[in-house]
Amino acid sequence: MNNHEILLRYLDSAGVDRFVPRAALIDMDGTLYDSMPNHATAWHTLATEIGIPSTREEFFLYEGATGAYTLCRLFNRALGRDATPEEISRLYKRKTELFAAQPAVGLMPGARQLLEFFKSAGTKRIVVTGSGQDSVISRLTTDFAGLIEAGNIITARDVKKGKPDPEPYLMGMKRAGVSAAEAIVIENAPLGVTAGHRSGAFTVGVTTGPVPRAELEKAGADIVYDSMEECARLMPALFQEMAVTSRR
Ligand code: CA
Repeated sequence: MNNHEILLRYLDSAGVDRFVPRAALIDMDGTLYDSMPNHATAWHTLATEIGIPSTREEFFLYEGATGAYTLCRLFNRALGRDATPEEISRLYKRKTELFAAQPAVGLMPGARQLLEFFKSAGTKRIVVTGSGQDSVISRLTTDFAGLIEAGNIITARDVKKGKPDPEPYLMGMKRAGVSAAEAIVIENAPLGVTAGHRSGAFTVGVTTGPVPRAELEKAGADIVYDSMEECARLMPALFQEMAVTSRR
């Protein structure tokens, strides 16, 4: 499908005549930062420490969810029950230590160019992350100075449910003062794409890790790019098409 067809399909499903991208709601891990390998290693090490068999790869599938969600997935598989609040608090603290002990994560190539394009287009930028890792969150406003403002970051601490629930993205829209038909979500993980899709926003999937494009399409992505660099390169053409595509 070309951009025009993709947009018409979105407009039909959303039940609106036009899409105006007034705000971009952007995921952090695996989207702005190349941080997923470190997260996967930290989770895999933690699971091994508490005697639950796992693979590094599975944590890419839980990506975007809160720590509590991931711990309950592991506990249900191994023990047939959710983790208790005490276990969640203690084990997430340990996971945070394991994550922080690894080499600093780098910026995802293409992320800055995409944010610069959004800024030039007059589109607000809101970071929407399931993370509670201060070691990365605190870097956002310096790594992306002039592009991301401190008041425009939604983290795990701001939400009750977290991705794949649409709550974080609905909160991002509220923060930006826009409706679903004015919000474009940028996500790299299936659970995050599902959250974006359920929020009603136009949802862009970007494959930046081992999860294949089909998983993002299945999760509800309106369009999928193969890298953040490609996303940044092709976004201006998508915006041009948004400006002229209407159901009437
Ligand atoms: Ca992510």
